[in-house]
Amino acid sequence: MKIPPGHFGLPGLALNVLHCNEMTNRRIVLASRPAGEPVEGNFRLETEELAPPADGELLLKTKYLSLDPYMRGRMSDGPSYAAPVEVDAPMTGGSVCEVLESRATEFAAGDMVQAFTGWQEYSVVSPKGLRKLDAALFSAIGAPVSTALGILGMPGMTAYTGLLNIGQPKPGETVVVAAASGAVGSAVGQIAKIKGCRAVGIAGGAAKCSYVVKELGFDACVDHHSPTLPADLKAACPGGIDVYFENVGGKVFEAVLPLMNEFARVPVCGLISQYNMVELPEGRDRTSLVMRGILTKRITFRGFIVSDYATQAGECFREMSGWLREGRLKYREDVVDGLENAPGAFIGLLEGRNFGKLLIRFQGLSGA
Ligand code: NDP
Repeated sequence: MKIPPGHFGLPGLALNVLHCNEMTNRRIVLASRPAGEPVEGNFRLETEELAPPADGELLLKTKYLSLDPYMRGRMSDGPSYAAPVEVDAPMTGGSVCEVLESRATEFAAGDMVQAFTGWQEYSVVSPKGLRKLDAALFSAIGAPVSTALGILGMPGMTAYTGLLNIGQPKPGETVVVAAASGAVGSAVGQIAKIKGCRAVGIAGGAAKCSYVVKELGFDACVDHHSPTLPADLKAACPGGIDVYFENVGGKVFEAVLPLMNEFARVPVCGLISQYNMVELPEGRDRTSLVMRGILTKRITFRGFIVSDYATQAGECFREMSGWLREGRLKYREDVVDGLENAPGAFIGLLEGRNFGKLLIRFQGLSGA
């Protein structure tokens, strides 16, 4: 196997590669399915010997791995829009990788690509579905290539497409979003501002709320840990709520619903407060009350998955990168070093311990 010069700063790694035709890969597999909140024991770090790429294939080295809430769904085998990860198989996930070796015409060694290689250091893949990342373009935008997993990638596109297609915000309206300091929520509120709306965030804790208002430019942000959340939200939305971008569910949704205006729109993007639930919450079933609110206020709820809007990817990248360049859109990354720290970081994401787009950074190699 041909190794690009200067790529292997780590002597142990170079030995693995140069002394045999295979190389040692480190990966994290799903060891067992969680019951409720995931624990470290649900994951296992293991090594494997990776065969070199065949004709038409590429060898990739992961630079950044994206950790996202949807991965909790993949750990369970209940019905979903996507297949679960099998026990003993690598956890799935989006990544930014460097091409180490190419036996495909579309890519060359040294290219940076966005891929779906999962929680692992190296991978041998077919070029299908890879997105080549133009480092010069990212540099002109003033954004590192890691943003291909955040504001200029899937989470940014989720915010853009869900808010504009389903939320349909109009100037002067009030847009509310929870998980407001996170990858999706931070973009939702800023796009709402760009569209002339009042943006109100809901986030966990004073530091996140302060960032949302002072750095991101939301008009207000309330803390969902506060026992007075419903009253705080009412005070922050004196004209009611026209668009509620749903990321969370649970008690946050309960605080939002009474404040919704007639003909309000609710893009249902995620329900992170429910992802670890193993049974229905205690208490009275309030479905009929919710339905009555939807009827009398003529509210539109619509669930979506970002891939529903795949055809808008080009438009979204153009708009978002333009706003970034103009300084109208800001983002924050929460970067954790080392594949071995991915399980702990992921568990923290579901508990609100991340502050910004959560990424795992891998060591070594050249590139951005
Ligand atoms: P974030 O970067 O926002 O991180 C998750 C955040 O969720 C945490 O930091 C925490 O923020 C908040 N959170 C966690 N648990 C709770 C809880 N019990 N109650 C309230 N807030 C909680 O993640 P993303 O931006 O990547 O994802 C946001 C949402 O968007 C998720 O629901 C995700 O599933 C969804 N999504 C949906 C997509 C789609 O195609 N439909 C695509 C991408 C994401 P805090 O401390 O502020 O509470």
